[in-house]
Amino acid sequence: MKNSEAQQDVSVSQGVRMMFYMMKPNETSFQTLEEVPDYVKQATPFFISLMLLELVVSWIRKGKPPGRLDDALTSISAGVLSRLPSLFFRSIELTSYIYIWENYRLFSLPWNSPWTWYLTFLGVDFGYYWFHRMAHEVNIMWAGHQTHHSSEDYNLSTALRQSVFQIYTSWIFYSPLALVIPPSVYAVHLQFNLLYQFWIHTEVINNLGPLELILNTPSHHRVHHGRNRYCIDKNYGGVLIIWDKIFGTFEAENEKVVYGLTHPINTFEPIKVQLHHLFSIWATFWATPGCFNKFSVIFKGPGWSPGKPRLGLSEEIPEVTGKEVPFSSSASQLLKTYSVVQFALMLAFYEDTFADSAVLSHVTLLLRVCFIILTLTSIGFLLDQRQKAAIVETIRCLMFLILYRFGHLKPLVPSLSFTFEIFFSIGIAFWGVRSMKQLVSSPWK
Ligand SMILES: [Zn+2]
Ligand SMILES: [Zn+2]
Repeated sequence: MKNSEAQQDVSVSQGVRMMFYMMKPNETSFQTLEEVPDYVKQATPFFISLMLLELVVSWIRKGKPPGRLDDALTSISAGVLSRLPSLFFRSIELTSYIYIWENYRLFSLPWNSPWTWYLTFLGVDFGYYWFHRMAHEVNIMWAGHQTHHSSEDYNLSTALRQSVFQIYTSWIFYSPLALVIPPSVYAVHLQFNLLYQFWIHTEVINNLGPLELILNTPSHHRVHHGRNRYCIDKNYGGVLIIWDKIFGTFEAENEKVVYGLTHPINTFEPIKVQLHHLFSIWATFWATPGCFNKFSVIFKGPGWSPGKPRLGLSEEIPEVTGKEVPFSSSASQLLKTYSVVQFALMLAFYEDTFADSAVLSHVTLLLRVCFIILTLTSIGFLLDQRQKAAIVETIRCLMFLILYRFGHLKPLVPSLSFTFEIFFSIGIAFWGVRSMKQLVSSPWK
């Protein structure tokens, strides 16, 4: 999947179907891994179209958007961050799989048999169930997965709020498949399993009748994202809900779901969204006495502490009242508009970087990735109204101009090149003055 030259584009019909796992074995079976399209990359226009559709439906039905701008920007930021490592490496989920396949496979199932295709569909979804369950029950795995649960809204953008780190543990759960299933078949289903989970993050679809019996649906997954006591550690399924029914973790949606972490993180900073629980584990690890207890801090549930059962006590989960107010940005409308414009420009550079990744030098790629991370951080600082926001934004505008001058960023529209330079120069002047004022008034904050 790193070899982009051999990839085929998907048609619009295939694109729509792939978002719902409605592809046929004969159109998605490949002999080699290099032939497998990067379906997730090709899904971007479908992500955007479905989000716009959700916006329209929500306006028509409820008279309001399906979520909040600050929360959605943070979710898309996490999605962008989680994809950046793939510019440099093949994902560990594939590398480890190929290693096991090449060294330890028992036998090879035929890559072009529909039976292999259906078996892999079940195998990947079964692996996902156990990965996902462990991601909630093992603290160090939760440190990665909590990112996905940190949104207090529930809409299609929430689906994009992905962890950078969770693939470093998820690969373990798919490894057994490498004993018999060719990597090319696995790589297809790994992507479809992920893509299927996009459309279920919505409140605009209520109940899907008989489909609710076997499939993971928006209703089932709303429960999974809830912080009401009845929702905790429920509905881990990816595509099929039958695994939860078999292993006793299923819960149907009943009282109104309040979304997010049981202890909300109250920030829009993308790095904090990714890392805050890892820091919390670090602090708890050193504060907890005894070797066995320290081990338990890492490998038992996030709610565990000495003397409690493995997964903690459910009565310690804060009761929801339905009157919870989600954390919102106190930034002005003007600042939010500025953030959206900068975010849109960053997204265009991000897309451009992925499209040209094969021809860009490693230095340019690395500098572009640094610029993208700095942009996301700066927008998070602006939304959080952090003291250092003006300084970070000045540095970011400066970095843009330097990269631009040295040819590491090219103008999106060549004729607008001069406008871009003026735009970012004004940015430097504006934010520079604000940071100076801030430094003069509160130099130590
Ligand atoms: Zn989860
Ligand atoms: Zn989810």
